[in-house]
Amino acid sequence: MFLKQVILKNFKSFKGKNIIDFPAVITGIVGPNGSGKSNIVDAIRWALGEQSFKNIRIDKGQDLIYAGNSNEGGASFCEVELIFDNQKKLFNSDFTEISILRRIDKEGNNEYFINHKAARLKDIIDLTASAKIGLKGFSIINQGSVENVLLAPPQERRLMLEEVLGLKNLELKKEEAKRKLEEANINLDKTIALEKEILPRLRFLKRQVDRWEKRETLENELKEKEKIYFISLLDQLLSEEKYQPQDFINLRNKLSKLDSLIKERENNLITVKENKSKDLELKIKNITQEIINLQDEKSELLRELGRKETKAEVDYSLIDFKNAIIKIKNVLTNLLKINEISEIHKKIEELLKDINQLLIPKKEEINNNEIEELKKKINSLQEQLKEKNNLLEQNETVLNQSNINFREEYDKITQLRNQKEEILKLIQKQELEKERYNLKLNDLKRRINEAGYQFDEINEYYQKNKTQVLAPNELNELERHIFRLTRELAEMGVRDENVIKEYEEVNTRYEFLSHQIEDLEKSINDLKLLIKTLTKEIENSFNEAISNINYDFNRYFRLMFNGGSAKLEQIKKNKTVLEEGENKAEVKEESQNLNDVYWGVEIKIDIPKTNLKSLEILSGGEKTLVAIALLFAIINQSRPPLVIVDEIDVALDEDNSRRFAQILKELCHDTQFIAITHNRMIMAAAQILYGVTLKDNSSQLLSIKLEGSEAILK
Ligand code: ATP
Repeated sequence: MFLKQVILKNFKSFKGKNIIDFPAVITGIVGPNGSGKSNIVDAIRWALGEQSFKNIRIDKGQDLIYAGNSNEGGASFCEVELIFDNQKKLFNSDFTEISILRRIDKEGNNEYFINHKAARLKDIIDLTASAKIGLKGFSIINQGSVENVLLAPPQERRLMLEEVLGLKNLELKKEEAKRKLEEANINLDKTIALEKEILPRLRFLKRQVDRWEKRETLENELKEKEKIYFISLLDQLLSEEKYQPQDFINLRNKLSKLDSLIKERENNLITVKENKSKDLELKIKNITQEIINLQDEKSELLRELGRKETKAEVDYSLIDFKNAIIKIKNVLTNLLKINEISEIHKKIEELLKDINQLLIPKKEEINNNEIEELKKKINSLQEQLKEKNNLLEQNETVLNQSNINFREEYDKITQLRNQKEEILKLIQKQELEKERYNLKLNDLKRRINEAGYQFDEINEYYQKNKTQVLAPNELNELERHIFRLTRELAEMGVRDENVIKEYEEVNTRYEFLSHQIEDLEKSINDLKLLIKTLTKEIENSFNEAISNINYDFNRYFRLMFNGGSAKLEQIKKNKTVLEEGENKAEVKEESQNLNDVYWGVEIKIDIPKTNLKSLEILSGGEKTLVAIALLFAIINQSRPPLVIVDEIDVALDEDNSRRFAQILKELCHDTQFIAITHNRMIMAAAQILYGVTLKDNSSQLLSIKLEGSEAILK
């Protein structure tokens, strides 16, 4: 069986624990009025999550708890547990047995349990809906509610049908989707409002930031131009530079070499001059003096000799002349004796020779000792003079040579000094150039620093970007460009980091909101699609079910009324109530198909042999017949696993009671029935009967197994 057991604890008239087993497909519950039969139905209804006090005939929750009698007090809580078989997986659960338990205490604490685990009402509703035993359906039909299906407005009737047809789950899904759609729409509106709220601020900040972004571009451009400008100036400076450090060093080296050379030579010169020359000059002077002395002495001696010799010569000449005359007289006398001319000639020549001989003084002949002495002295002086002169000449030669060397050396030193002078001039020139270069370089460095750069940075840039160097004639244009950029930047104002930060924050927020809007729009579209799909699915299932129900409704109706006809008819209403989430544009677009909405269900009947078509004018019994025909047609279509009927048969006459019992039997193959009844026909249809009596204000249960019950009851 589907419902295997109901366990009541202190529920209404049932004191303590009462277990009711349901081993048969049709169970009858019988007993006198007020014995507590309907309390069993209330218990099942309550355990399935009933929220209406009216439907379980109480004024307040505590009315459900056994109240006791004059002898004993009431209970403090009550509990109802329903135990279902789930081997056929009628419940959407993997358990093979499902226990649904509800409990309330005097304090008003109300709890639900599924398989003894705490659950929410929603869980109970979902679970029972999945097994088609939800309270909105027709699982529990009592005397009052049997006609509800007739009296209910068309929309309500549609809901009942949906529940019983198992479309409840789809409806719940659809409701959930609608709820989500509504939430999404609210969120979308809120998000759009937030986005709109920050948009003007964002625009303002963006304009500002865009300007500064342009500033960044301009600053970068300016930096680039300035760097090119400075490296061009640097290049110009370096190419113009006349100061060559290497030359400078070479010159300095040369100078120091020259200096030491000059010094060395000067030292030499002084030494030579001071020592050698002085000695030599003194020597020459002395020799000269000696020579003068010797010459004086010689002159004196010569004069002396002259005097002596003159005297001797005169003496000697006079002797010679007399001899010569005698000789000439002899020769001439002899000549007169010679005839031969050649002999004469020869004799004359000899005479002349002799005369000449006579004319040459013969000093030796006139020497005397004094003269000889003088001559010796003179000769010795002469020798000495000769020596001294030689010595003088030698010394003078040395002195002269020394002077020449000195001069030469001196000239050389002068030459070196001139060279030094030249080098000094060059060095001075180089120093000047260096000074000039340094001045220019310092000026360039100052300008570079003033522009906010380091010289090293520019130099490095120069080394890497020599190809970008501009020619001097191109620099004017570059200067103008730099000036333009600087002015433009000055006009732009200074970048405010707080504004940038605020822009980033607002922009992030805006992007977040935009994404959220996108997400929401997407989920709204998804939800709309889901709602549309579910609507269509429900619609299709519903249409099909209605047409099936109508077949049985008409059949049962004709059975009970002996003819006539009955049917359910869906009311097509203009879509005045729009599906939530579908905006008007969409409705308009699809109005050809969806303008008419199956909004409710009406019952159309045609009572045989009369023209009666309205339900209102039917008798109570007739209404019950129509209701039973419809309910059982629905049950036949939806095949709920459990139907509880509580004295819905009271208004039936014997024939109709038999027909009703026949229908029950017809349907009990798929549906378990619990029937509370006073009707003998229905009792006869049951396989098991529970008898309920009231003793000491509490209900007592008695089960009666019926075999061939119909015979027994007869
Ligand atoms: P009928 O055949 O007339 O419909 P019934 O057998 O269905 O009667 P119920 O309506 O189920 O009878 O039971 C009503 C009885 O339950 C009354 O006697 C009432 O006093 C009793 N009852 C209801 N609530 C409580 C309660 N909380 N404690 C004790 N008894 C209660």
